[in-house]
Amino acid sequence: MNIHEYQGKAILKSYGVRVQEGIVADTPEQAVEAAKKMKEEFNSDWVVVKAQIHAGGRGKGGGVKLAKNLGEVKEKASQILGMQLITPQTGPEGKKVNKVLIAQDVYYPGESETKEFYMSVLLDRARGRNIVMYSTEGGMDIEEVAAHTPHLIFKEEIDPKVGLRPFQANKIAFNLGLSGPALKEMTKFVAALYKAYEGTDSSMFEINPVLKTSDNKILAVDAKVNLDDNGLFRHPDYAALRDTSEEDPTEVEASESNLNYVKLDGNVGCMVNGAGLAMATMDIIKLAGGEPANFLDVGGTANAQTVKAAFNIILKDPNVKAILINIFGGIVRCDRVAQGVIDAYKEIGNIPVPIIVRLQGTNAEEAKKLIDESGLQVYSAILLKEAADLVSKVLK
Ligand code: GDP
Ligand code: MN
Repeated sequence: MNIHEYQGKAILKSYGVRVQEGIVADTPEQAVEAAKKMKEEFNSDWVVVKAQIHAGGRGKGGGVKLAKNLGEVKEKASQILGMQLITPQTGPEGKKVNKVLIAQDVYYPGESETKEFYMSVLLDRARGRNIVMYSTEGGMDIEEVAAHTPHLIFKEEIDPKVGLRPFQANKIAFNLGLSGPALKEMTKFVAALYKAYEGTDSSMFEINPVLKTSDNKILAVDAKVNLDDNGLFRHPDYAALRDTSEEDPTEVEASESNLNYVKLDGNVGCMVNGAGLAMATMDIIKLAGGEPANFLDVGGTANAQTVKAAFNIILKDPNVKAILINIFGGIVRCDRVAQGVIDAYKEIGNIPVPIIVRLQGTNAEEAKKLIDESGLQVYSAILLKEAADLVSKVLK
Protein backbone atom coordinates (compact mmCIF):
# COMPACT_ATOMS: atom_id res chain seq x y z
CA MET A 1 0.00 0.00 0.00
CA ASN A 2 1.36 3.38 -1.00
CA ILE A 3 0.78 6.43 1.16
CA HIS A 4 1.27 10.16 0.69
CA GLU A 5 4.44 12.07 1.50
CA TYR A 6 2.83 13.84 4.47
CA GLN A 7 1.66 10.53 5.94
CA GLY A 8 5.07 8.92 5.42
CA LYS A 9 6.77 11.86 7.10
CA ALA A 10 4.45 11.58 10.12
CA ILE A 11 5.43 7.92 10.50
CA LEU A 12 9.14 8.71 10.10
CA LYS A 13 8.89 11.47 12.68
CA SER A 14 7.28 9.11 15.19
CA TYR A 15 10.42 6.97 14.92
CA GLY A 16 12.71 9.90 15.52
CA VAL A 17 13.68 10.57 11.90
CA ARG A 18 14.11 14.31 11.30
CA VAL A 19 11.87 15.52 8.48
CA GLN A 20 11.11 18.71 6.61
CA GLU A 21 8.11 19.82 8.68
CA GLY A 22 4.80 20.70 7.11
CA ILE A 23 1.03 20.98 7.42
CA VAL A 24 -1.39 19.52 4.91
CA ALA A 25 -4.15 21.62 3.31
CA ASP A 26 -7.19 20.97 1.09
CA THR A 27 -7.91 24.54 -0.02
CA PRO A 28 -5.89 27.70 -0.78
CA GLU A 29 -7.37 29.30 2.38
CA GLN A 30 -6.22 26.36 4.51
CA ALA A 31 -2.82 26.63 2.82
CA VAL A 32 -2.51 30.24 3.99
CA GLU A 33 -3.51 29.25 7.54
CA ALA A 34 -0.95 26.44 7.42
CA ALA A 35 1.76 28.85 6.29
CA LYS A 36 0.93 31.20 9.20
CA LYS A 37 1.27 28.27 11.61
CA MET A 38 4.57 27.25 10.03
CA LYS A 39 5.82 30.78 10.71
CA GLU A 40 4.73 30.54 14.38
CA GLU A 41 6.04 27.05 15.03
CA PHE A 42 9.15 26.85 12.88
CA ASN A 43 9.85 30.52 12.20
CA SER A 44 9.93 29.80 8.47
CA ASP A 45 9.02 32.79 6.31
CA TRP A 46 9.34 30.87 3.09
CA VAL A 47 7.45 27.64 2.51
CA VAL A 48 7.23 25.10 -0.28
CA VAL A 49 3.81 24.11 -1.61
CA LYS A 50 3.96 20.40 -2.46
CA ALA A 51 1.32 18.43 -4.36
CA GLN A 52 0.33 15.22 -2.56
CA ILE A 53 -0.10 12.43 -5.09
CA HIS A 54 1.11 8.84 -5.14
CA ALA A 55 3.90 9.49 -7.63
CA GLY A 56 7.36 10.98 -7.64
CA GLY A 57 8.87 13.53 -9.99
CA ARG A 58 6.40 16.15 -8.78
CA GLY A 59 9.03 18.87 -8.85
CA LYS A 60 9.64 18.36 -12.57
CA GLY A 61 5.90 18.43 -13.31
CA GLY A 62 5.32 21.75 -11.52
CA GLY A 63 3.92 20.22 -8.34
CA VAL A 64 6.51 21.66 -5.92
CA LYS A 65 6.74 25.46 -5.68
CA LEU A 66 8.51 27.87 -3.36
CA ALA A 67 6.39 30.66 -1.85
CA LYS A 68 8.03 33.68 -0.25
CA ASN A 69 4.97 35.30 1.35
CA LEU A 70 1.32 34.54 2.15
CA GLY A 71 0.15 36.01 -1.16
CA GLU A 72 2.38 33.58 -3.02
CA VAL A 73 1.20 30.70 -0.83
CA LYS A 74 -2.38 31.38 -1.87
CA GLU A 75 -1.45 31.82 -5.52
CA LYS A 76 0.67 28.66 -5.76
CA ALA A 77 -1.72 26.52 -3.72
CA SER A 78 -4.55 27.64 -6.05
CA GLN A 79 -2.46 26.65 -9.08
CA ILE A 80 -1.54 23.23 -7.71
CA LEU A 81 -4.78 22.17 -5.99
CA GLY A 82 -7.14 20.59 -8.50
CA MET A 83 -4.53 20.42 -11.25
CA GLN A 84 -3.98 17.25 -13.24
CA LEU A 85 -0.31 16.77 -12.36
CA ILE A 86 1.75 14.95 -14.98
CA THR A 87 5.12 13.58 -13.89
CA PRO A 88 7.43 10.92 -15.34
CA GLN A 89 5.73 8.47 -12.93
CA THR A 90 2.03 9.25 -13.46
CA GLY A 91 1.58 8.31 -17.11
CA PRO A 92 0.32 10.80 -19.69
CA GLU A 93 -3.11 11.26 -18.05
CA GLY A 94 -1.55 12.58 -14.82
CA LYS A 95 -3.08 12.55 -11.36
CA LYS A 96 -5.50 14.99 -9.80
CA VAL A 97 -4.12 16.90 -6.81
CA ASN A 98 -6.53 16.99 -3.85
CA LYS A 99 -4.12 18.06 -1.12
CA VAL A 100 -0.98 20.13 -0.77
CA LEU A 101 1.68 20.01 1.93
CA ILE A 102 2.81 23.41 3.14
CA ALA A 103 6.37 22.61 4.15
CA GLN A 104 9.15 24.66 5.73
CA ASP A 105 11.80 25.89 3.31
CA VAL A 106 14.89 23.93 4.31
CA TYR A 107 17.24 25.19 1.59
CA TYR A 108 18.07 28.39 3.49
CA PRO A 109 21.60 29.83 3.24
CA GLY A 110 24.01 29.45 6.16
CA GLU A 111 27.54 28.69 7.25
CA SER A 112 28.00 25.71 4.90
CA GLU A 113 26.52 24.40 1.65
CA THR A 114 23.31 22.39 1.46
CA LYS A 115 23.78 18.94 -0.05
CA GLU A 116 21.22 16.42 -1.36
CA PHE A 117 21.63 12.65 -0.94
CA TYR A 118 19.63 9.62 -1.95
CA MET A 119 18.66 6.90 0.51
CA SER A 120 16.28 3.96 0.44
CA VAL A 121 15.63 0.89 2.54
CA LEU A 122 14.25 -2.12 0.75
CA LEU A 123 14.32 -5.88 0.46
CA ASP A 124 17.03 -7.22 -1.83
CA ARG A 125 15.27 -10.33 -3.07
CA ALA A 126 18.39 -11.85 -4.59
CA ARG A 127 20.17 -11.68 -1.22
CA GLY A 128 17.05 -12.33 0.84
CA ARG A 129 17.94 -9.42 3.11
CA ASN A 130 17.09 -5.80 3.68
CA ILE A 131 19.55 -3.27 2.35
CA VAL A 132 20.15 0.42 2.71
CA MET A 133 20.84 1.83 -0.73
CA TYR A 134 22.38 5.30 -0.81
CA SER A 135 24.12 7.75 -3.03
CA THR A 136 25.82 11.12 -3.05
CA GLU A 137 23.71 11.92 -6.12
CA GLY A 138 20.47 12.93 -4.40
CA GLY A 139 17.55 14.93 -5.69
CA MET A 140 17.62 13.41 -9.15
CA ASP A 141 16.19 10.31 -10.73
CA ILE A 142 17.99 7.34 -9.16
CA GLU A 143 17.41 5.31 -12.35
CA GLU A 144 19.51 7.91 -14.19
CA VAL A 145 22.27 7.62 -11.62
CA ALA A 146 22.15 3.83 -11.89
CA ALA A 147 22.38 4.02 -15.68
CA HIS A 148 25.22 6.55 -15.98
CA THR A 149 27.20 6.47 -12.73
CA PRO A 150 26.45 3.14 -11.03
CA HIS A 151 29.65 3.39 -8.97
CA LEU A 152 28.03 6.26 -7.07
CA ILE A 153 25.34 3.96 -5.64
CA PHE A 154 26.26 2.06 -2.49
CA LYS A 155 24.49 -0.82 -0.76
CA GLU A 156 24.68 -1.90 2.86
CA GLU A 157 23.25 -5.29 3.72
CA ILE A 158 21.52 -5.78 7.05
CA ASP A 159 21.66 -8.98 9.08
CA PRO A 160 18.06 -9.61 10.18
CA LYS A 161 19.15 -11.11 13.50
CA VAL A 162 20.98 -8.02 14.73
CA GLY A 163 19.50 -5.23 12.61
CA LEU A 164 21.48 -2.23 11.41
CA ARG A 165 24.65 -1.99 13.49
CA PRO A 166 26.18 1.32 14.60
CA PHE A 167 29.35 0.80 12.54
CA GLN A 168 27.20 0.36 9.43
CA ALA A 169 25.38 3.65 10.04
CA ASN A 170 28.78 5.27 10.50
CA LYS A 171 30.13 3.79 7.31
CA ILE A 172 27.15 5.07 5.35
CA ALA A 173 27.64 8.61 6.71
CA PHE A 174 31.35 8.41 5.92
CA ASN A 175 30.80 7.12 2.37
CA LEU A 176 28.48 10.08 1.80
CA GLY A 177 31.49 12.31 2.37
CA LEU A 178 30.33 13.75 5.67
CA SER A 179 32.39 14.70 8.70
CA GLY A 180 31.96 16.44 12.04
CA PRO A 181 28.43 17.19 13.26
CA ALA A 182 26.83 16.28 9.91
CA LEU A 183 28.37 12.80 10.08
CA LYS A 184 26.95 12.30 13.56
CA GLU A 185 23.54 13.52 12.46
CA MET A 186 23.54 11.23 9.44
CA THR A 187 24.43 8.24 11.63
CA LYS A 188 21.40 8.96 13.81
CA PHE A 189 19.24 9.54 10.75
CA VAL A 190 20.12 6.18 9.18
CA ALA A 191 19.58 4.28 12.43
CA ALA A 192 16.15 5.85 12.99
CA LEU A 193 15.19 5.32 9.35
CA TYR A 194 15.98 1.62 9.54
CA LYS A 195 14.01 1.27 12.79
CA ALA A 196 11.03 2.91 11.11
CA TYR A 197 11.28 0.57 8.11
CA GLU A 198 11.34 -2.52 10.33
CA GLY A 199 8.73 -1.28 12.79
CA THR A 200 6.19 -0.47 10.08
CA ASP A 201 6.66 -3.76 8.16
CA SER A 202 7.35 -1.75 5.04
CA SER A 203 8.51 -3.08 1.72
CA MET A 204 10.18 0.14 0.68
CA PHE A 205 11.24 3.53 2.01
CA GLU A 206 12.73 5.96 -0.45
CA ILE A 207 13.98 9.32 0.77
CA ASN A 208 15.08 11.47 -2.14
CA PRO A 209 16.47 13.87 -1.25
CA VAL A 210 17.90 13.43 2.21
CA LEU A 211 19.17 16.94 2.85
CA LYS A 212 22.14 18.26 4.73
CA THR A 213 21.07 21.78 5.63
CA SER A 214 23.45 24.71 5.71
CA ASP A 215 23.58 24.34 9.51
CA ASN A 216 24.44 20.64 9.30
CA LYS A 217 21.07 19.09 10.09
CA ILE A 218 20.13 15.93 8.22
CA LEU A 219 16.48 15.58 7.28
CA ALA A 220 14.03 13.86 4.94
CA VAL A 221 12.74 16.34 2.35
CA ASP A 222 10.68 13.70 0.58
CA ALA A 223 9.24 10.36 1.70
CA LYS A 224 8.03 7.58 -0.53
CA VAL A 225 6.72 4.86 1.78
CA ASN A 226 5.32 1.54 0.64
CA LEU A 227 3.73 -0.48 3.44
CA ASP A 228 3.74 -4.23 2.88
CA ASP A 229 0.11 -5.35 2.41
CA ASN A 230 0.94 -8.66 4.08
CA GLY A 231 1.97 -6.84 7.25
CA LEU A 232 -1.04 -4.51 7.44
CA PHE A 233 -2.98 -6.81 9.78
CA ARG A 234 -0.39 -5.97 12.43
CA HIS A 235 -1.08 -2.24 12.04
CA PRO A 236 -4.86 -1.74 12.01
CA ASP A 237 -4.36 2.04 12.39
CA TYR A 238 -2.70 2.21 8.94
CA ALA A 239 -6.00 1.36 7.23
CA ALA A 240 -6.95 5.03 7.64
CA LEU A 241 -3.91 6.02 5.54
CA ARG A 242 -5.28 4.36 2.43
CA ASP A 243 -6.31 6.80 -0.28
CA THR A 244 -8.44 4.84 -2.73
CA SER A 245 -8.75 7.87 -5.03
CA GLU A 246 -5.10 7.20 -5.93
CA GLU A 247 -5.74 3.59 -6.95
CA ASP A 248 -7.21 1.98 -10.04
CA PRO A 249 -11.00 1.85 -9.26
CA THR A 250 -11.35 -1.67 -10.64
CA GLU A 251 -8.47 -2.90 -8.50
CA VAL A 252 -10.09 -1.32 -5.43
CA GLU A 253 -13.38 -3.08 -6.21
CA ALA A 254 -11.52 -6.37 -6.67
CA SER A 255 -9.72 -6.09 -3.37
CA GLU A 256 -13.05 -5.43 -1.65
CA SER A 257 -14.26 -8.81 -3.00
CA ASN A 258 -10.97 -10.41 -1.90
CA LEU A 259 -9.90 -10.94 -5.50
CA ASN A 260 -6.32 -10.46 -6.48
CA TYR A 261 -6.65 -8.46 -9.72
CA VAL A 262 -4.16 -6.58 -11.85
CA LYS A 263 -5.31 -4.91 -15.04
CA LEU A 264 -3.27 -5.53 -18.21
CA ASP A 265 -3.57 -4.36 -21.82
CA GLY A 266 -4.66 -7.51 -23.69
CA ASN A 267 -7.96 -8.89 -25.04
CA VAL A 268 -8.51 -12.17 -23.15
CA GLY A 269 -9.83 -11.88 -19.61
CA CYS A 270 -8.83 -14.66 -17.26
CA MET A 271 -10.21 -16.02 -14.03
CA VAL A 272 -8.03 -18.54 -12.23
CA ASN A 273 -7.53 -20.00 -8.78
CA GLY A 274 -3.98 -19.64 -7.50
CA ALA A 275 -1.33 -17.14 -8.56
CA GLY A 276 0.94 -19.77 -10.15
CA LEU A 277 -1.84 -21.16 -12.30
CA ALA A 278 -2.84 -17.60 -13.19
CA MET A 279 0.67 -16.91 -14.48
CA ALA A 280 0.68 -20.17 -16.46
CA THR A 281 -2.74 -19.31 -17.89
CA MET A 282 -1.46 -15.97 -19.10
CA ASP A 283 1.34 -17.83 -20.92
CA ILE A 284 -1.21 -20.19 -22.50
CA ILE A 285 -3.25 -17.22 -23.73
CA LYS A 286 -0.15 -15.76 -25.38
CA LEU A 287 0.72 -19.09 -26.98
CA ALA A 288 -2.82 -19.26 -28.36
CA GLY A 289 -2.31 -15.90 -30.07
CA GLY A 290 -4.13 -13.72 -27.52
CA GLU A 291 -2.92 -11.22 -24.97
CA PRO A 292 -4.04 -11.42 -21.33
CA ALA A 293 -6.33 -8.54 -20.32
CA ASN A 294 -5.69 -9.10 -16.65
CA PHE A 295 -4.23 -11.20 -13.91
CA LEU A 296 -6.99 -12.50 -11.66
CA ASP A 297 -6.63 -14.94 -8.81
CA VAL A 298 -10.03 -15.77 -7.27
CA GLY A 299 -8.36 -17.63 -4.42
CA GLY A 300 -9.49 -20.87 -2.84
CA THR A 301 -13.26 -20.40 -2.92
CA ALA A 302 -14.57 -20.22 -6.47
CA ASN A 303 -18.30 -20.08 -5.65
CA ALA A 304 -21.08 -18.29 -7.53
CA GLN A 305 -20.50 -15.10 -5.56
CA THR A 306 -16.78 -14.81 -6.25
CA VAL A 307 -17.24 -15.86 -9.87
CA LYS A 308 -19.92 -13.19 -10.30
CA ALA A 309 -17.71 -10.49 -8.76
CA ALA A 310 -14.86 -11.63 -11.02
CA PHE A 311 -17.08 -11.53 -14.16
CA ASN A 312 -18.22 -8.02 -13.30
CA ILE A 313 -14.67 -6.81 -12.87
CA ILE A 314 -13.35 -8.43 -16.06
CA LEU A 315 -16.30 -7.12 -18.10
CA LYS A 316 -15.56 -3.51 -17.07
CA ASP A 317 -12.64 -3.66 -19.48
CA PRO A 318 -13.89 -2.84 -23.01
CA ASN A 319 -10.87 -4.58 -24.60
CA VAL A 320 -11.97 -8.02 -23.42
CA LYS A 321 -13.00 -10.19 -26.38
CA ALA A 322 -13.12 -13.55 -24.58
CA ILE A 323 -12.82 -14.91 -21.06
CA LEU A 324 -10.86 -17.99 -20.08
CA ILE A 325 -11.75 -19.56 -16.75
CA ASN A 326 -9.10 -22.00 -15.62
CA ILE A 327 -9.78 -23.64 -12.27
CA PHE A 328 -8.05 -26.55 -10.67
CA GLY A 329 -10.38 -28.44 -8.37
CA GLY A 330 -8.28 -29.70 -5.53
CA ILE A 331 -10.14 -28.84 -2.37
CA VAL A 332 -12.90 -27.08 -4.27
CA ARG A 333 -14.94 -29.48 -6.43
CA CYS A 334 -15.13 -28.75 -10.17
CA ASP A 335 -18.89 -29.42 -10.39
CA ARG A 336 -19.47 -26.78 -7.72
CA VAL A 337 -17.35 -24.28 -9.61
CA ALA A 338 -19.22 -25.11 -12.82
CA GLN A 339 -22.53 -24.52 -11.05
CA GLY A 340 -21.08 -21.25 -9.72
CA VAL A 341 -20.16 -20.16 -13.24
CA ILE A 342 -23.62 -21.04 -14.56
CA ASP A 343 -25.41 -19.28 -11.68
CA ALA A 344 -23.24 -16.18 -12.00
CA TYR A 345 -23.76 -16.12 -15.78
CA LYS A 346 -27.55 -16.33 -15.37
CA GLU A 347 -27.56 -13.65 -12.68
CA ILE A 348 -25.54 -11.20 -14.76
CA GLY A 349 -27.70 -11.96 -17.80
CA ASN A 350 -26.23 -11.24 -21.15
CA ILE A 351 -22.43 -11.63 -21.22
CA PRO A 352 -21.35 -10.23 -24.59
CA VAL A 353 -18.17 -12.30 -25.06
CA PRO A 354 -17.55 -16.03 -25.38
CA ILE A 355 -16.41 -17.87 -22.28
CA ILE A 356 -14.12 -20.85 -22.18
CA VAL A 357 -14.20 -22.89 -19.01
CA ARG A 358 -11.47 -25.35 -18.27
CA LEU A 359 -12.01 -27.31 -15.08
CA GLN A 360 -9.58 -29.99 -14.06
CA GLY A 361 -9.38 -32.06 -10.90
CA THR A 362 -12.06 -33.47 -8.62
CA ASN A 363 -15.33 -34.18 -10.53
CA ALA A 364 -14.00 -32.60 -13.74
CA GLU A 365 -16.20 -34.80 -15.97
CA GLU A 366 -19.39 -33.90 -14.07
CA ALA A 367 -18.41 -30.25 -14.33
CA LYS A 368 -17.95 -30.44 -18.10
CA LYS A 369 -21.35 -32.06 -18.42
CA LEU A 370 -23.02 -29.30 -16.38
CA ILE A 371 -21.44 -26.62 -18.58
CA ASP A 372 -22.28 -28.41 -21.85
CA GLU A 373 -25.91 -28.88 -20.82
CA SER A 374 -26.42 -25.35 -19.48
CA GLY A 375 -27.40 -23.95 -22.88
CA LEU A 376 -25.25 -20.88 -22.31
CA GLN A 377 -22.60 -19.47 -24.66
CA VAL A 378 -19.87 -21.26 -22.74
CA TYR A 379 -17.26 -23.63 -24.14
CA SER A 380 -15.89 -26.34 -21.90
CA ALA A 381 -12.54 -28.06 -21.83
CA ILE A 382 -10.66 -30.40 -19.55
CA LEU A 383 -7.18 -30.33 -21.07
CA LEU A 384 -5.25 -27.08 -21.16
CA LYS A 385 -4.47 -27.68 -24.85
CA GLU A 386 -8.21 -27.85 -25.64
CA ALA A 387 -8.75 -24.61 -23.75
CA ALA A 388 -5.92 -22.91 -25.67
CA ASP A 389 -7.34 -24.09 -29.01
CA LEU A 390 -10.75 -22.73 -28.03
CA VAL A 391 -9.20 -19.37 -27.19
CA SER A 392 -7.59 -19.21 -30.66
CA LYS A 393 -10.85 -20.25 -32.27
CA VAL A 394 -13.06 -17.67 -30.58
CA LEU A 395 -10.55 -14.90 -31.20
CA LYS A 396 -10.71 -15.66 -34.91
P1 GDP B 1 9.54 14.94 -6.08
O1 GDP B 1 9.87 15.84 -7.22
O2 GDP B 1 8.20 14.33 -6.22
O3 GDP B 1 10.61 13.92 -5.84
O4 GDP B 1 9.42 15.88 -4.76
P2 GDP B 1 10.52 16.31 -3.68
O5 GDP B 1 9.87 16.40 -2.37
O6 GDP B 1 11.73 15.44 -3.77
O7 GDP B 1 10.89 17.79 -4.12
C1 GDP B 1 11.43 18.05 -5.39
C2 GDP B 1 12.49 19.12 -5.33
O8 GDP B 1 11.93 20.32 -4.82
C3 GDP B 1 13.64 18.81 -4.39
O9 GDP B 1 14.62 17.99 -4.98
C4 GDP B 1 14.17 20.20 -4.13
O10 GDP B 1 15.07 20.59 -5.15
C5 GDP B 1 12.92 21.07 -4.18
N1 GDP B 1 12.53 21.41 -2.80
C6 GDP B 1 11.92 20.61 -1.91
N2 GDP B 1 11.81 21.22 -0.71
C7 GDP B 1 12.34 22.44 -0.86
C8 GDP B 1 12.54 23.56 0.02
O11 GDP B 1 12.23 23.52 1.22
N3 GDP B 1 13.13 24.66 -0.50
C9 GDP B 1 13.53 24.73 -1.79
N4 GDP B 1 14.08 25.85 -2.23
N5 GDP B 1 13.39 23.69 -2.64
C10 GDP B 1 12.80 22.57 -2.19
MN1 MN C 1 11.80 13.32 -4.32
